[in-house]
Amino acid sequence: MSLKSWQDALAALASCGMLRRLQTVTGPQRAHVHMQGREMLLLCSNNYLGLADHPALVEAQSRAAAHYGTGSGGSRLISGSMELHEQLETRLACFKGTQRALLFNSGYAANTGILQGLMGPEDIIFSDRLNHASIIDGCRLSRARTLVYPHRDVAALERLMAGEAAGRKGQWLIVTDGVFSMDGDLAPLPELVALKNRYDCLLMVDDAHGTGVLGAGGKGTGEYFGCLANIDLHMGTMGKALGGFGAFVAGPDVLIQTLLNRARSFIFSTSLPPAVVGAGLAALDIVQSEEGRSLRLRLEQLRALVTQHLGPDICTGFDGNTPILPIITGEPQATVRASAWLQQQGIFLQGIRPPTVPEGSCRLRMTLMATHQPGELLQAADLIRKALSA
Ligand SMILES: *Cc1c(COP(=O)(O)O)cnc(C)c1O
Repeated sequence: MSLKSWQDALAALASCGMLRRLQTVTGPQRAHVHMQGREMLLLCSNNYLGLADHPALVEAQSRAAAHYGTGSGGSRLISGSMELHEQLETRLACFKGTQRALLFNSGYAANTGILQGLMGPEDIIFSDRLNHASIIDGCRLSRARTLVYPHRDVAALERLMAGEAAGRKGQWLIVTDGVFSMDGDLAPLPELVALKNRYDCLLMVDDAHGTGVLGAGGKGTGEYFGCLANIDLHMGTMGKALGGFGAFVAGPDVLIQTLLNRARSFIFSTSLPPAVVGAGLAALDIVQSEEGRSLRLRLEQLRALVTQHLGPDICTGFDGNTPILPIITGEPQATVRASAWLQQQGIFLQGIRPPTVPEGSCRLRMTLMATHQPGELLQAADLIRKALSA
């Protein structure tokens, strides 16, 4: 069998700066990581609160492994539903203020499972153009009609909904990232709540990047806007600010029961290892503690500092009070060059290219961690400015 067509395709990607490859971090995920024998300042991790190597999480995970072992041995519906899974689900439902929650093995599995499990060919999903790839794939799997509205454009969404209202049958669902992963801007949740009430449909918020970070209690974008209780389905992950792995959906009991019966990524997959769930519980403890509050405050302060230091010409893409700071570079080759140059200077800041972001809007997606030091961020900001003008 000839592998030539794949070789040619990879070569074509490489020739236009679009080839992806792995870069290995040795040692733990901290504000400083080791790569190829060098220490680098990490500026592209979703470990916003620095919990991924927090002693309390490591200790909880080790304790859970010692007590429950390493594997769950099955899917939740066969033999793999353990008491830690249920404890974490109870905590998450309470955290988001819903009747019930259900764990998924990752955010990707959650979004594909939620949309496929709740929506079908008779239904309509209204989806923001910049929603995460896992939402797009969930829409496809559901076989519902998917109407994509321009990014954060509530007026356009309303026109779409009004156009569908006559002879409506089936369920409607609006789905949006809470914090958009590549831009760091926020969904207009209060306006979306008003629309979902006017048109009597469900509102699902993917708060992979808001959970733990936004709102006084870290409950996410809904808490930030004061409309947490108006969101029907809260999707969140434990792999980002919560420093671990896994994901969940929180919502009304009837929808959770439906997912438990229909969501294929939930039904046909081994459940999360108990140790991972133990770390999730410990992460929630921290997020809801005084320590969590001060980590969030610290992130806000660092954001203000960096934004001010970079100046308005570089911060054109910054919108929303989040630790995600997209520095727009445009084309793939310029992006790869800037990222490689920064790496030589000891800064790990990955370039993001299509299809993760739209054509022509490549960027260095800079993310802050509460464990960064102000001085090192200022130095990095100066180097970023240099990288862009080179
Ligand atoms: C990261 C991310 C996901 C996927 O979550 P994983 O747990 O990494 O699979 C889903 N939605 C958004 C918006 C994300 O940023």
